[in-house]
Amino acid sequence: MTSSPREPARTVQVALPVPLRHTFTYAVPEGWRTPAPGCRVRAPFGRAAATGMVVSEAPPSELPPGLKSLRTLVDQEPLLPPEMLAFTRRLADHYLAPLGMVLRCAYPSALDPEPRTLYRLTEEGALARNAASSALREALGAGPLPRPKLAAALGAATDALLAEGLRRGWIEAEEHARAVRRRTGRDHVALLAPDGRAEALRDDESLPKPFRKVLSVLITMADKGYPEAGLAAKLARVPLFTLSEMAEAGLVELFKTAPTCLPGRPSPHALSEDQARAVAAVRGAMEQGRGGTFLLYGITGSGKTEVYLRLIEAALATGGAALYLVPEISLTSVLARRLLERLGGTVAILHSSMGEKERARQWLRARSGAARVTIGPRSALFAPLQNLKLVVVDEEHDPSYKQQDHPRYHARDMAILRGTLASIPVVLGSATPSVESYYNAAEEGKYTLLTLSERAGGALLPAVEVVDMRREYEETDGRDALSRLLASRLGEALAAGRQAVVLRNRTGFATFVLCRRCGKTLQCPDCAVSLTHHRKAGHLRCHYCGRRAAVPSLCPECGGEFLQFLGIGTERVEERIAAAFPGARVARMDRDAVRSAQEYDRLWLDFERGRVDVLVGTQMVAKGHDVHNVTLVGILSADFILGMPDFRSAERTFQLVTQAAGRAGRGAHAGTVVLQSFHPDHYAVQAAAAQDFAAFYAKDIRYRKMVGYPPFSALARIEVRHADHARVGALSSEVAAFLRAGAEGRVRVLGPSPAFVPRVEGRYRHQILLKSPTRARLRALLASLLDSPLGTRTSRELDVEVDPVSLL
Ligand code: ADP
Ligand code: ZN
Repeated sequence: MTSSPREPARTVQVALPVPLRHTFTYAVPEGWRTPAPGCRVRAPFGRAAATGMVVSEAPPSELPPGLKSLRTLVDQEPLLPPEMLAFTRRLADHYLAPLGMVLRCAYPSALDPEPRTLYRLTEEGALARNAASSALREALGAGPLPRPKLAAALGAATDALLAEGLRRGWIEAEEHARAVRRRTGRDHVALLAPDGRAEALRDDESLPKPFRKVLSVLITMADKGYPEAGLAAKLARVPLFTLSEMAEAGLVELFKTAPTCLPGRPSPHALSEDQARAVAAVRGAMEQGRGGTFLLYGITGSGKTEVYLRLIEAALATGGAALYLVPEISLTSVLARRLLERLGGTVAILHSSMGEKERARQWLRARSGAARVTIGPRSALFAPLQNLKLVVVDEEHDPSYKQQDHPRYHARDMAILRGTLASIPVVLGSATPSVESYYNAAEEGKYTLLTLSERAGGALLPAVEVVDMRREYEETDGRDALSRLLASRLGEALAAGRQAVVLRNRTGFATFVLCRRCGKTLQCPDCAVSLTHHRKAGHLRCHYCGRRAAVPSLCPECGGEFLQFLGIGTERVEERIAAAFPGARVARMDRDAVRSAQEYDRLWLDFERGRVDVLVGTQMVAKGHDVHNVTLVGILSADFILGMPDFRSAERTFQLVTQAAGRAGRGAHAGTVVLQSFHPDHYAVQAAAAQDFAAFYAKDIRYRKMVGYPPFSALARIEVRHADHARVGALSSEVAAFLRAGAEGRVRVLGPSPAFVPRVEGRYRHQILLKSPTRARLRALLASLLDSPLGTRTSRELDVEVDPVSLL
């Protein structure tokens, strides 16, 4: 059938998750309603089909020859609302990323349809006369079937028969894709009544047995968030109505996770003057629909979280929704618990380590309005909350907001974009703001600066004692991970019944293995980095590609038998402390020891409840938690990053040390920090020891201005990767020459030069850095490269990163 000339083919633009920056034009089959933007479709692509999303866009002036038609409509109604489509489009533009790839981040992959291919007998197949066709006719006579059903009928010959049938036109394959069924979770959640009687009542014989069973279930689950009523009833093996009876008796509270405002628990604190001023400023903007970006700069323990909570409550009170971004998965649960305690079932939690199904459920709760607060790490940026009134970015300086895979977005920057598009306030909070954010607030007036200058509840900042490790090594001629001062402070804290946090920013036991005969360190054969020894796991590991190797007894280079395990990782520190303080309960938190969100939850809870005395770990122990019994923080040469060739290494050091120090002395007992340093004279270390952000900022901003780094320029990094060393050199020179030829108006092209780690996973890496006075010029130059024949030809070797956070 051909369409009549008066009715030109209806077309839509579809974004497909492929590494190409343009969208694709497809014809809408006859008899279809034109799918609205935000609906997913299956469309033929290459030799197969792909799931993409219809985006509103003018069709190209000339339709491509051989225009293909959409195959299947996945969504009757748009999966993404128009404002999320507009937002993802802007995000894709900012990073020069393919829209289809960005859209793949914007909803959980578990919602993707599971396409099924059905085989149908054609007229020819029905008429053909031979053994193969009759077999097919017999199997498909009653109607189309998917392959597994066909295989049951045809046995081992299935594939051969299908291939022949398709080739000779006896059968046709047709694809069906149905959207995954959507559960929006309009259930009730059950909470114990807040009067704290539950534990006593559980054993109260006068209470009906089913009631006691439910109490006992809820008590056990209180640690894990708030269960749905249905689940609690199931676990207690009681009918659901038991829960409503208990609610009537005031034993539990049931919250409908529907778009009604929850009563919530009142705040336990009266706001300090600073806090009240900050809340009023943002509330004012929210209520007048003004929007704007606010930088809440408050020292550690100054009650920033309390400010966020009040603002979230204010957003809910006006019938709106709020998005609360937190840096790492390890923090999500700590903060989510605080949020749940105050706001109950309106909260949706998104975890990056959550199962795909659960993520999908939480996402849908946000979309349906059942959850009106979403808390999560960077990917929660895409939570499809309706009537969004507030975005909070907690610890805005944290590098984990940067996505390291494509699309490489920065969730803080994009949160500001999302807020701007919606004209709602965005609150960035930190005790150690990024240099860029502070500059925007204090010097440029782009953000409103809000300051909390004292610790809440009268607590004082801890005293910091700096240990010069060069002297320590001289005086002790040992290579002990713990300085004498830290060891004695640990002893004191433990004797007083206090808790301690010890930060070491390297995992494993030994961070490198050295042969004393030939002087070589053992390296990953694919990556130009040394292997780390993980003693408990019993292997060597490459932290770049994940390769594992057995621990050799002889040097693989020279056969020497004197291998030394050097460098101090968290595993060694844990062992050292456990040996020195046999009575202490020591636990380790790093990516090896703790693998899932549940394990983080459990370990944090153990620590909060005082079931762990010393928590050793990587930077994840340095952030966000508020445990009042912690009086000592030990920092083991966190300043090793100072030696790295990255313009942000001073900033990272300052942030890490200040944040870690900020965990001490948050309650009634004064805190102490022991900072072991090899660079005790560096300004970042000195400012961190004094917990003096202003002093750090004043130095760092001068340096950035002098060398023209952000905020005084927009940066992009282009990495060229190839397995062949000569090829990388030639290609990166060609790309740099192209960029130099196109660079105008003070755009600078630096490089190419080998990357800090010059080879990863067997591919050599060269990098080129672009520094541009304006973002527009940077983007224009990058676009000209990506859309050029050179860019298209080398799309597999080129990796473009806009606003890189690390140049390593
Ligand atoms: P931050 O996020 O700035 O590090 P938190 O919000 O974790 O600080 O607050 C630190 C501690 O102070 C918490 O235990 C919190 O409950 C308490 N707190 C917050 N605001 C107040 C207040 N106005 N009065 C008394 N205590 C407060
Ligand atoms: Zn490797």
